[in-house]
This record gives sequence, C-alpha cells and structure tokens, in this order.
Amino acid sequence: MTELKCPMYKECPFFNDVLPDMPSTSNLMKKNYCDGDFKRCARHMVTTTVGKEHVQKTLFPSNVEEASQIIANHKNE
Ligand code: SF4
Repeated sequence: MTELKCPMYKECPFFNDVLPDMPSTSNLMKKNYCDGDFKRCARHMVTTTVGKEHVQKTLFPSNVEEASQIIANHKNE
C-alpha cells in the first residue's frame, strides 16, 4: 500500500468547501485521487500546468475534460 498523498492536500479547498452534503462521494474521490492517483486529478493538473488561480472552486477531480479545456485556453493566451 502506497503512502503517497497529493502534495496539495492541506491547502486544497475542494473537500471542505464544495461537497459538504456529499460525504460519501467526496470520501470516495479522496481515496481515489488525494490518497491515490493524484496526478490524474483535474485540479492537480490545472494547478501544476497553469497555476492554482485557474482552478475553479467547483472543478471535480474527475473532470479531466474541463481541466484540459482550462489548460488549453490559458496556454493560448
Ligand atoms: S482534489 Fe486533487 S488537488 Fe485537491 S487534494 Fe485531492 S488530488 Fe490534490
């Protein structure tokens, strides 16, 4: 079992602010992304590519399509 955790875990507002009414969903995502394959997280992708100021509060870790769009838009600026 890997002990790797996303380096943005402490400062990422996602689980505290966005999904207060959906603990089972957020826990599952936490397990899959924050405690697991965080490099696949849409928020992590945007942060490491174009900066955390471009991460929308409502961006879900699973929404890689939107992350790609945000990254493409900002790379073209
Ligand atoms: S939601 Fe993504 S960026 Fe935020 S802590 Fe989890 S893996 Fe990291």
